[in-house]
Amino acid sequence: MIILVINCGSSSIKYQVLDMKNDDDYSLLAKGIVEKIGLADGSIAHTRTGYPKVIKKQFIEDHKVGMELVLNELVDSENGVLKSFEDIKAVGHRIVQGADFFSESALVNEDVIAKIDYCSDFAPLHNPANILGIRAMQKVLPSVPQVAVFDTAFHQTMPDYNYMYPLPSSYYKKYRVRKYGAHGTSHQYVAGKAAGIAGVDINNSKIITCHLGNGSSVTAVLNGKCYDTSMGFTPLAGMIMGTRCGSIDPNIVTYIMKKEHLSEDEMTAVMNRKSGFLGLTEVSSDVRELCEAVEKGDQRAKLGLKVLVQDVTKLIGSYAAEMNGVDLIAFTAGIAENNPWLLEQVCANLTFLGLKFDTKTNNEKGIDKVVTMPDSKVKVAIVSTNEELVIARDTMHLVFGK
Ligand code: ADP
Repeated sequence: MIILVINCGSSSIKYQVLDMKNDDDYSLLAKGIVEKIGLADGSIAHTRTGYPKVIKKQFIEDHKVGMELVLNELVDSENGVLKSFEDIKAVGHRIVQGADFFSESALVNEDVIAKIDYCSDFAPLHNPANILGIRAMQKVLPSVPQVAVFDTAFHQTMPDYNYMYPLPSSYYKKYRVRKYGAHGTSHQYVAGKAAGIAGVDINNSKIITCHLGNGSSVTAVLNGKCYDTSMGFTPLAGMIMGTRCGSIDPNIVTYIMKKEHLSEDEMTAVMNRKSGFLGLTEVSSDVRELCEAVEKGDQRAKLGLKVLVQDVTKLIGSYAAEMNGVDLIAFTAGIAENNPWLLEQVCANLTFLGLKFDTKTNNEKGIDKVVTMPDSKVKVAIVSTNEELVIARDTMHLVFGK
């Protein structure tokens, strides 16, 4: 069964085509990205599995034209993977914010779209683009069922004492201000995958998942369900990120706005786009570049990476305390997958938990492995995340049953 997975941004469309036989038996047929929608130098980069990437440049007026391009590429006589559009049985969309409306994925209808629209206030960069993607797909494939898969859904099992902020409760009642978290699809996948390779029963265990990419978050997973997570009302909260500050003393916000005469929008941009590694180090938002700078003796880059190690350590420590223990810590995404020194340094801070790190395995190439000694009380795994697979699975289940 062919499922098309769409991850729509304000000027881009990422896509994957999966042939799903069942949850674990599937193949990736093709993937690609449409970029710079609405700009003069638009492009589509399409990769049929096992073949070289093909890049085509052209002006792409809007998301509908972008979706048409994707579909045409899928049935292209040279690069295509499908005979006709009718091969696509369902489309799954990644939706960033579903607030407390959605604790699981949903078949798209007008009510679902209205709720995603309502949540745009909490994710102004993402949700409007996600709706554009759904609307564009409705126009080009009107009879194909569509499913919305929410980055926030996995976190809906958090107890109220972990999602409520100690603010006047009227803000929760009037404006739905509470913790929602993000990266839920990734945390869910990574907890399951890591439990599988580490021999831990997901339904009877204490797992901490660390998604460390341009955006980073850490989640406590108790018996397979989210118990707490580091991102908050929006994906700005938690640990240091590429350009996001994470959690800071809230009084700094009004203090700096006054001192620098900044508007709300300008201060929001400072915290989202000019902070994190970029703001702190003034070197780069990218860990690869920070590592290169450290090699050359740059102390600012060194400080940025030290803050990264400390933040991850603090979150793991607090979640281990919250769950009164931890059986498995799982790492994923660009920073964790490519920087073995990071796991080594974080885990060196966790020996008090009975964690015995396996440096040799950690330094070997390859992902999806356990990097602790067989007698380690706490296991550590590094796995590659696969949000698209979760979206394809949920889409298949909702449209065709289990
Ligand atoms: P996103 O959140 O955009 O999906 P990724 O998961 O791709 O982000 O992670 C991006 C981060 O991973 C960047 O800080 C980048 O420097 C780091 N990274 C990616 N590849 C490497 C690499 N080969 N070596 C070191 N760091 C890397």
